[in-house]
Amino acid sequence: MKDIIPLSVPFIRGNEKKYVMECLDSEWVSSSGSFVTRFEQDLASYVGCRGAVACVNGTAALHVSLLIAGVQPGDEVIVPTLTFIAPVNAVKYVFAEPVFMDCDEYLNLDLAKLADFLEEECSFDGERTFDKKTGRRVAAIIPVHVFGSICEMDAIMELAGRYKLAVIEDATESLGSKMTAGRFKGRHAGSIGDFGAYSFNGNKIITCGGGGMLVASSDDDLKKAKYLTTQAKDDELRYVHNEIGYNYRLTALQAAMGLAQLEQMPLFLKIKRERYLEYKNFISDIPGLSMVEIPPYCESNCWFYSLRVDKELYGMDRDALMNVFEGEGIQSRPIWNLNHSQKPYRDSRNYRIESAVLAQNQILNLPCSVGLDDGQFDRIIGLLVACKSLKT
Ligand SMILES: *Cc1c(COP(=O)(O)O)cnc(C)c1O
Repeated sequence: MKDIIPLSVPFIRGNEKKYVMECLDSEWVSSSGSFVTRFEQDLASYVGCRGAVACVNGTAALHVSLLIAGVQPGDEVIVPTLTFIAPVNAVKYVFAEPVFMDCDEYLNLDLAKLADFLEEECSFDGERTFDKKTGRRVAAIIPVHVFGSICEMDAIMELAGRYKLAVIEDATESLGSKMTAGRFKGRHAGSIGDFGAYSFNGNKIITCGGGGMLVASSDDDLKKAKYLTTQAKDDELRYVHNEIGYNYRLTALQAAMGLAQLEQMPLFLKIKRERYLEYKNFISDIPGLSMVEIPPYCESNCWFYSLRVDKELYGMDRDALMNVFEGEGIQSRPIWNLNHSQKPYRDSRNYRIESAVLAQNQILNLPCSVGLDDGQFDRIIGLLVACKSLKT
């Protein structure tokens, strides 16, 4: 039997064991101790943010961001339909309502449609924006930087300023991605909006098993985030709580691993980007197949490699190709089910969703682990070439 090629597995060859052992030896394994603070400081300085607050996972970071941004029960929050469901669920955690938007060719929020929605479907009274159809206040927008490509942040920040919307960047998939043009040239994904959320889940570019980080540019917001993630303790000694908080802190054991992973970001980025270009290069010769491109205004971390399968030209559709891969022990995955059609969200508001439907039918994510070797890569490309000549 041939070896299984996994879709995405962690690469643990740095100081992970050393730091975790140091943490164990210190006996400070919970959220106190130096590892959590060090991880927060290193992450904040890596992405160029004023500060960071470690969270139990990326979803918790999004939840707390929405709370601090002042999203109220009954408000609306603009989200893409094409995303992992976490940011959409976080909107519901604060009893707000998602409004689903379409995606562009890079799989990110469609800016033209977002602008049309705000212009045509909403009214702005100088302070607040309202959805004319539902009468609800539109409070915030969550741009999700899908698979490492950054959303059009210049336009998003401009619109958010004009309509006074809070911007919470879901940068859980895009640690290390940077703007290369425009007003935010040089800035990291997650560091541009009012809040940014990162994730260190097992399949992300760096992992600590599970974990997340919230970044913000205001000291008050960072202070509030730390407060809410530690059960809103107003007096540490006497346990006075003046608000409802959460137990959302990361542990030192996880932070120790995260620190070691963060040290390897330059290596991971180099490997990820080279492999993306290699995929793109080989696939450009196969009619009907193409890689989802990186927007011209940013440098992606190339976290995931998304293949678009055009059945008419390629001869085989995405699902058939996925089955062939599975038979050969190569893991691949379709893109997420669209959130506006998920059971809890079928009655939610959605706006002119078209491109996301096509993406959902055509896209297959290919193996993208940092440790993917050349032999495995050749097997994948070989199969893509071989399937072209098959008739299905
Ligand atoms: C992974 C992910 C999250 C959530 O991160 P967790 O750490 O798993 O909670 C949120 N949004 C997107 C787009 C993700 O891919």
